[in-house]
Amino acid sequence: MKFGTRLIHNGHESDAETGALGVPVYQTSTFLRRDMSRGPDSQEYDYSRGGNPTRKALEDIIAGLENGARGFAFGSGMGAISSVFGILSTGGHIIASEDIYGGSVFVLENFYRRWGLEVSMVDACPDQIQKAIRPNTKAVYLETPSNPLLKITDLASCIAIAREAGLLTIVDNTFMTPCLQRPLDLGADIVVHSATKFLGGHSDVVLGLAVTRTAELGKQLYAVQNSFGAIPGPWDEWLVIRGIKTLKVRLEAAQNTAMILANWLAAHPRVTDVYYPGLPNHPGKAIHDSQASGPGAMLSFKTQTEEQALAFYQKVRLAAAAPSLGGVETIASRPVTMSHVAMPAPQRERLGVSGTLIRIAFGLEDPEDLIEDFEQALG
Ligand SMILES: *Cc1c(COP(=O)(O)O)cnc(C)c1O
Repeated sequence: MKFGTRLIHNGHESDAETGALGVPVYQTSTFLRRDMSRGPDSQEYDYSRGGNPTRKALEDIIAGLENGARGFAFGSGMGAISSVFGILSTGGHIIASEDIYGGSVFVLENFYRRWGLEVSMVDACPDQIQKAIRPNTKAVYLETPSNPLLKITDLASCIAIAREAGLLTIVDNTFMTPCLQRPLDLGADIVVHSATKFLGGHSDVVLGLAVTRTAELGKQLYAVQNSFGAIPGPWDEWLVIRGIKTLKVRLEAAQNTAMILANWLAAHPRVTDVYYPGLPNHPGKAIHDSQASGPGAMLSFKTQTEEQALAFYQKVRLAAAAPSLGGVETIASRPVTMSHVAMPAPQRERLGVSGTLIRIAFGLEDPEDLIEDFEQALG
């Protein structure tokens, strides 16, 4: 089956007990123990931190879509990411791209480093990763396209280096979703998601997901999920199960709008740069096209002056000036005061995250209306 069909015929299209065309919300914390002479392993569900049928449905669905062995749901994307780092040991070393989500940097630098995990942040290209490998290196952590400048990492080449050295590769696939990019198919070991974004898709839920390529890694991550307990509630799980059904139509529509607006912005006299892997002059386009089936619905651009950028947020009417992405509404965020506010200014400058940078996550408005609105907001 093709991807759109798999979103609907996901193994949970009807409830075995009642025939309901939807996954029931099991709003329960605990389950009857059927045989008191035996332990919790004697039945599938025992206590909802360890497992719940609504969560199980969502976990199976995302595992299926990413072509992995086992899926896991968490209370947020950061819950997923922090829990995945939890399978690495004290005394180990992780190599992470310097262009990853700010929260992932923060949890590595401020918590895992303190707990004895060595961390190297590098420019995520194969030779820099190769150079950063130490005898105690355990994992490589990547995100592509990156936030907010949509830089592209060559997944296959980086994964090959990691594999050669016996390291795990973990990929944050939030921007692309399995609709456009499937890192496990390229050899990655674990994929993580903020399902708050495109998978949930409606800006109404915070949730995280992870998928492991093997059952063995699944066992390790399950131990962390059950012990750290950063799990979501059944209503939020249900919202994401519902959101995922429309992922393809939403993402393709938003991507189509992003492409139209990227070309329009590139021709605008007040716009100096447009960062979008769908544009022919994007330096990572060839690699992106080799590992993903579309450029996605996120772009960033720079105005000539900071005043023009600030005026854009003031004047724009059809884009919400807010953090986050992946909803039905277009969102305009400002990396220097939002996602990258915690990053030291010199590093921000070096990476090109300036006060003139505007990040847009396209929603489902008609592109003609967005053009008219952006025209007056830039004018
Ligand atoms: C939002 C986001 C996260 C964090 O997810 P939360 O659900 O907000 O905890 C991680 N990675 C990326 C790429 C994100 O956009």
